[in-house]
Amino acid sequence: MNLLRLSVVAAAAIAASLLLAAPANAQDAAPASAPAPAAADDPWNGQIFLTFDDGPGGAYTDDILEVLEANNAKATFFLLGQNAQRDPARVDAILDGGHTLGNHTWDHPDMTTLTRAQMDSQIGRTQNLLESHGAEVNCFRPPYGAHNTTVNQAITAAGLQRQLWNEDTRDWDRPGVDAIVNVLLGATPGDVVLMHDGGGDRSQTVEALEIALPQLAAKGYKFGITPKCSPTP
Ligand SMILES: [Zn+2]
Repeated sequence: MNLLRLSVVAAAAIAASLLLAAPANAQDAAPASAPAPAAADDPWNGQIFLTFDDGPGGAYTDDILEVLEANNAKATFFLLGQNAQRDPARVDAILDGGHTLGNHTWDHPDMTTLTRAQMDSQIGRTQNLLESHGAEVNCFRPPYGAHNTTVNQAITAAGLQRQLWNEDTRDWDRPGVDAIVNVLLGATPGDVVLMHDGGGDRSQTVEALEIALPQLAAKGYKFGITPKCSPTP
């Protein structure tokens, strides 16, 4: 008797689950024009946003451009005006690679310590220089990520959007290639990853990219320009 009762309960449970399953199956059978589940779950279309600050940084910038090209990667370079002025050829090389420029001030002050006029000068002077290369520059990254209401107002007044980051490789501190690789391999679509091509010895950054980018690409990830920094279509 107990077995019979159990089987009745089981049959009812199966019937209930079939009823529940039916609408889901119907959705699965939706026309091919419906978006694929992966795309619906990932508004970033598989893209990780690599960003490089403080450049151009001499031969390290060349090396990074080479690794990016080898991995079909596009990135955003937040240049310092004073470095760009010293090295116009590398500014052009970054643009020729299909990458995008961001404004990172003229000489890397903590913006929160400046007067509004000084902020405007840091942003405007750099913007003019970058645009003289034919670049469309739509985003600004404050040095150290330091910002307050006045900094935000200065950014907006310049027609720019503030672009921070959410994954910090801490490569400026030269923590070792493995440490940088580990942060890179933890990136998922939508992440904005902070690295540096300028400001010091960036050989660890270059080596870490050589190791990590092919592994990320093998997961199906792509490397693109952040929405805030992207040129107008
Ligand atoms: Zn910086």
